Amino acid sequence: MKYILAIFLFVSQSGYAFTLSTATAYKYSTKEVKLSVANDTCSGLGLDPSALLDLVEEAMDDFWNSVPTADIKFVRGGVGTFSANGHISVGSFMTSNGVVNEIIIGCNNDVTDFGSGTIGKGGFQYNSATGMKGGFIIYDDASVAALDKTQKKALIAHELGHAFGLGHSNFKPALMYYIVNPKMTALSRDDEDGITYLYPKTKKVGGCGTIEDISKAGPKNGNKEIMFLLLLVFGVLVSKQISKNSLK
Ligand SMILES: [Zn+2]
Repeated sequence: MKYILAIFLFVSQSGYAFTLSTATAYKYSTKEVKLSVANDTCSGLGLDPSALLDLVEEAMDDFWNSVPTADIKFVRGGVGTFSANGHISVGSFMTSNGVVNEIIIGCNNDVTDFGSGTIGKGGFQYNSATGMKGGFIIYDDASVAALDKTQKKALIAHELGHAFGLGHSNFKPALMYYIVNPKMTALSRDDEDGITYLYPKTKKVGGCGTIEDISKAGPKNGNKEIMFLLLLVFGVLVSKQISKNSLK
């Protein structure tokens, strides 16, 4: 007697929880994006620039560089000749550095738009003529210094998500949820869907083709060059949750 085994696959049609920073998908036109840190000493955090860069490299490898379906890689840059100190917003920090297709990182305890309980801010600037650049600032304070390495890496990876184009997710277990889960050591499926949506590996891109797609969102007309500037900055409220959890 023959038995026929039927396997039914039920594919859920669950909706995405991740969000983009805007309705239009702004993204880097290069497949490799360099991350560099400011040459300020993060004294409140107890980190010198090279130690912060080491942490950033670990964070990008543990999280966003491990998505096989995403066609973007974050690579270690260096300690730059730029500073986060003196910039009271992440936007100002990014504007101070003219390099595009890169992400800059710094520490500052004088960021007026941090707000209460916010210990990191990240975002990007997009210019249809020159491209995209990102940045984030970590709150340079003893409360952040008290976080363990895993928690610091989760914070950095969350801000990196904003710096390449993602907004906050509605999915609580996601890294991109507005409150970072301090115990996260890897991305959730929702985070992977988010980066894959922006940078799909299967999409055939031909260098400038990607730029052309993006620039449709910006005003452009003949030989008249019209600049389109977009600035997005997100904060992350984690300090209380992390402090609480870190004691466990
Ligand atoms: Zn955030």
